[in-house]
Amino acid sequence: MRRKLLPVLLGVFLALGCGLMTQAAPSLKLGQPIDCQLGENCFVLIYPDRDPGPEATDVGCGRMTYDGHKGTDFAIPDERVMAQGVAVKAAAAGTVLRVRNDIADQRIKDPTETSGVEGIECGNGVVIDHGQEWETQYCHLREGSVGVQPGEKVAEGSVLGLVGTSGKASFPHVHLSVRYQGQVVDPYVGPNAKPGCQTSKQPLWKTDLPYQPTGLIRAGFAPQLPELDQLWSGDFSDSNLVANSPAVVFWVQSFGVLEGDQERVKLLNPTGEVAANLERSLPNDQRVWVSSIGKKNTSTALTIGQWIGKYQLLRDNQVLVDVEKTLRVE
Ligand SMILES: [Zn+2]
Repeated sequence: MRRKLLPVLLGVFLALGCGLMTQAAPSLKLGQPIDCQLGENCFVLIYPDRDPGPEATDVGCGRMTYDGHKGTDFAIPDERVMAQGVAVKAAAAGTVLRVRNDIADQRIKDPTETSGVEGIECGNGVVIDHGQEWETQYCHLREGSVGVQPGEKVAEGSVLGLVGTSGKASFPHVHLSVRYQGQVVDPYVGPNAKPGCQTSKQPLWKTDLPYQPTGLIRAGFAPQLPELDQLWSGDFSDSNLVANSPAVVFWVQSFGVLEGDQERVKLLNPTGEVAANLERSLPNDQRVWVSSIGKKNTSTALTIGQWIGKYQLLRDNQVLVDVEKTLRVE
């Protein structure tokens, strides 16, 4: 009887071993990798691409991604906010594997012109080993802001550096990549999900990060039609305008608009009259969208006092963006 014990035990071990191999991956729990209020002063603009082929789909079967995007892009409103310093934080405890800290912050204005960042697409970055074959990577940090070293242990929430625009970044953001056994994992679904967006979802986030594919980035006034580049720079954030400005323009920068969305934009002068008015259906999908209306200064001076800009974005009669801003003309 005793002689039989060893082969029996071996058999049990083999069975256990095989059982483990087919089990689900151990899961890593992640905190938000950026110090901001999601939906208030930061936004997920690009989700991981869940389509295995040449198409692209995000976790919500929406279009806030592009083919082959391997991470989640947490964006901040503009480079003025970036200059104030927004912390990038370790999403989980671990050991720093690699860092890079000497790439200039040069926001890419033409997304097709990326020759200057070949091989350094991540820009200034940090890679953290979380054990059990899990890694996270943080990209596009501000030049010189990375404050951790390889080999250093970090806690969840430890500050790694600041949000920047280094590497292949066309707006200020931190790109978070999550990997298990070297494979990209979408943190909105976890490691055991099937490709595509119709899959079971076991998010890695410790507290649920909502999927918000449409929203407001910022809104304001300008003395001219604003370019998107100027908005990312942080221009036109004043709430005053001088009376001899060439025009008064109310602008709204939003994300995730779809073809057929309805826009209602209105500019009211200090006497409450409608100075400009626009209602339209949007012609196509846009990941970032700037809407503006204005009034040219045809006399010597704009009416002094408080101007009001009102904007609504509607889809299927549901209001997705609703903003009102005031301006002092003096
Ligand atoms: Zn990205």
